[in-house]
Amino acid sequence: MVSSTSSNAPNYLCHACADAKGIFEGLHLTSTSPSTYQVDKAAKHTQVPSSSSGVVSVLNSHSTAEYDQFSRQAFNHGFVEVEGNGRFALIYPTTGYIGTRYQGGAATVQEGYFRWYLSSDPNLAHGRSDSSVNYIGAKCTQCGRAVAL
Ligand SMILES: [Zn+2]
Repeated sequence: MVSSTSSNAPNYLCHACADAKGIFEGLHLTSTSPSTYQVDKAAKHTQVPSSSSGVVSVLNSHSTAEYDQFSRQAFNHGFVEVEGNGRFALIYPTTGYIGTRYQGGAATVQEGYFRWYLSSDPNLAHGRSDSSVNYIGAKCTQCGRAVAL
C-alpha cells in the first residue's frame, strides 16, 4: 500500500480555509514605504532582464502599479501554500497570461499566476508571476476544494 503522506507534497489551503484559520492576519503587503529589497524585487519582476541574468519572471505590463495590484488580489482572493518555517506564499490564479519567464534574457514560458512570497515578513514580502503548471490539480488540504483554475 502506498502511503499518501508524502512530505514533499505542497500543502495548500483555499482562501476561505486560510481565512478561517486567521492566516491572513499575520501576513503583509508591501507597505507604503517598501524596503530597498522590495523596491529591487518590484523592478526586477517588471523589467525585461539582460542576457546575463538567470531565470526571471517579468510582468508583461512592465507596470509596478499592476505588480501592487496583483499582490492585493493575492491577499483578497488567492489561495495559500504553507511553505514551512511559518512561511506562507499567496497564489493568485488569473485566466490570462500576465507574465513571461526569461532565461538569459530570452522569453521561454508564458505565466498566468501571481505568487506572493514571504508574506509573514513586512520587509521581505514580494511577488512575481508564476506558471500555472506548478499548481495543476492543487487542492485545499482542509476542505478538498480545487484551488487552481
Ligand atoms: Zn478549503
